[in-house]
Amino acid sequence: MTLQELAQLIIATGRQAEDLRAEADRVRWETVGDDVHLRGLIEFSNHCRCNCLYCGLRRENNSLARYRMAPKEIVDAAEQAVALGFGTVVLQSGEDLWYTGERLAGIISEIKSRTGAAVALSVGEREDWEYRLWREAGADRYLLRHETSDPELYARLHPGASLRNRIRCLEVLGELGYEVGSGPLIGLPAQTPEILAQDLLLLKRLNVHMAGMGPFIPSPSTPLASALGGSPEITLNMLALTRILIPDIMLPATTALETSAQHGCLAGLRAGANVIMPNLTPRRYACLYELYPGKKAPTIGIAEEVERVRGVVAAADRLVATGPGSSPRALLAVT
Ligand code: SF4
Repeated sequence: MTLQELAQLIIATGRQAEDLRAEADRVRWETVGDDVHLRGLIEFSNHCRCNCLYCGLRRENNSLARYRMAPKEIVDAAEQAVALGFGTVVLQSGEDLWYTGERLAGIISEIKSRTGAAVALSVGEREDWEYRLWREAGADRYLLRHETSDPELYARLHPGASLRNRIRCLEVLGELGYEVGSGPLIGLPAQTPEILAQDLLLLKRLNVHMAGMGPFIPSPSTPLASALGGSPEITLNMLALTRILIPDIMLPATTALETSAQHGCLAGLRAGANVIMPNLTPRRYACLYELYPGKKAPTIGIAEEVERVRGVVAAADRLVATGPGSSPRALLAVT
C-alpha cells in the first residue's frame, strides 16, 4: 500500500470504512483468534518532568494535585490485579525520577517474585542502563508511544525532546528483549492523514509487538485546551489498518476511544483490537491521573470496572483470555 492509499483509507467513511474494519476483524480472527487480553493498569505516579503541550500531567500544570504511590502500595495493587485474574500488570507514570532505576527495579522484582505476572512498564524516556536494569529485574514489556512521526510536529508538542531520541529509546528497548509497544496520538493540531500514514509505516518499520493509539482529547489545563481533538472514526480506521499491516500485533481498544465515543471500546474490538487495559489504580489516586478529562474508570470501583470490561468482551462475542497474553511473535522468538 502506498502512503497516499493509506492516507485515503485513514479518512474513509461509510461503506469503505465498514469494509476496512471488517477486513481487520477477519485478519484479527485468522491471526490471533477470538481471545481478548486484559492488562491491569496501575497509574502509580502523576508527577512528570516533561511539559508535553497536550497532556494534563505536564510539569507546568499547577492546578493538578500530585501523588506518588509507595513501592508497597504498587506491589499490593499488582497482587490485587492477579487476585482478580489478571496475567499482566502495566505500571504507568509520568516521567518521575523519584522512582530511581534501582527503586523501580526493586518494585518489579518484588511483583515478579510474589505474583509471576507479566510486567509491562510505561514510564517514558529513561537512561539505557535503567531499561537494562528493569529488564534484568524481570520486566517483560515496555510501552512508549511515539505520539507523532513528524519530527517538526513532535518538537513543537514536546519542548526539549526529539523524535530521534524517542525512536532511539524504542530501538534500545527492542534490543534488550522487551516486547515493545508504541503508537500515535490521533487528531493532534496540524496532523494530516499523510502524517498518520507515516505513523503506521513507522510502527511497521520498528516491528513493534504492541500498538496503543487513541484520539487526542484536549485537556483544559494545557496550551491545547481549545484544540478540536481527535476523531473516533479515524481512530477506528487507524486500528484497522494497524491490524492489517501488522497482523500479529497486540492492539488495545484504548480508554481514550471509550471516553470519546459511546461504545468506543466495543467498536475497537470490532475493528481489529484484541487487548483492553482496565484501570486498577486505587481510586483515591485514579481521579488525579488526568491525562485528559472524562476518563470513566475513576468514577466506578475496581471490581465494577473489571465487570464492565468483561461485559464489553461478551458483547463483542469474544473470550477473555487467561495467562500473561504475550505477543505471538515474542513467543515464537523464545521457542
Ligand atoms: S505525555 Fe507523558 S511525558 Fe508528556 S507530560 Fe504527559 S505524562 Fe509527561
